[in-house]
Amino acid sequence: MSGAAVDWNGIKKMGLEEKLPSGFLLTTVEKLAGYMRKNSLWPATFGLACCAIEMMAIGSAGKYDISRFGMEVFRASPRQADLMIVAGRVSNKMAPVVRQIYDQMAAPKWVISMGACASSGGMFNNYAIVQGVDHIIPVDIYLPGCPPRPEMLMDAILKLHDQIGNEKLGVNRAKIVKEVEASAIAATPIHQIPVFGKQG
Ligand code: SF4
Repeated sequence: MSGAAVDWNGIKKMGLEEKLPSGFLLTTVEKLAGYMRKNSLWPATFGLACCAIEMMAIGSAGKYDISRFGMEVFRASPRQADLMIVAGRVSNKMAPVVRQIYDQMAAPKWVISMGACASSGGMFNNYAIVQGVDHIIPVDIYLPGCPPRPEMLMDAILKLHDQIGNEKLGVNRAKIVKEVEASAIAATPIHQIPVFGKQG
C-alpha cells in the first residue's frame, strides 16, 4: 500500500500517520514495556570519587548531551531514580549507604558500575575498599577504565538501553532465570580454571 494518509479536510498528514495508514500498531507488552522503560531512565545523584567528575561531564557538557535521552536531570531523591551509576571506589564505611540508596530507588532499577574501582576495587586492594560493588548490589553493566571517559559512559548507557529494551517479562523471564541458574551451577569454579588457579 502506498500514498500518504489525508485527514477530513484532505490535508496530507506527516510523520507517524503517514507510515501507519491503517491506524493501528501491533506489538507485544514486553516490547512496549521495554521501550518505555529504556526511554524514561532517571539516574540518582551521587558520586563517590574521581570517576564522578567524568559522570558529571556527561550531564553538563553539550558535547556529550545526555539530555537527548531525557536523562540529564539527576534525581536528588532515590525514590525518583531508577538508575544508579556507581562512580568511584566504594569504601567499607560507604557500603551500607550505597545499599540504602539502592533499596530506596524505584523498581525496576538498574546499576552501572563505572570504573575499575567500583567494579573490582581497582588499585585499592586493601581492607578499606570494597573489592567490587557487586558485593553489595546487583550490577547490570560493568564499565572499565580509570577513569572511563564520558563517551564510554554514554556507550554503557546505550548498552543498558538495549538490555532494558529486550528484557523479558512473566513466564519468559522465569524461563531465562532458570536457564541462567542452571548454567551458573554447571560452570567451572573460577579456582579450577588454569589461568586463575595455581599453575603446576
Ligand atoms: S577508577 Fe580511577 S578515576 Fe575512577 S575512582 Fe578509581 S582511581 Fe578514580
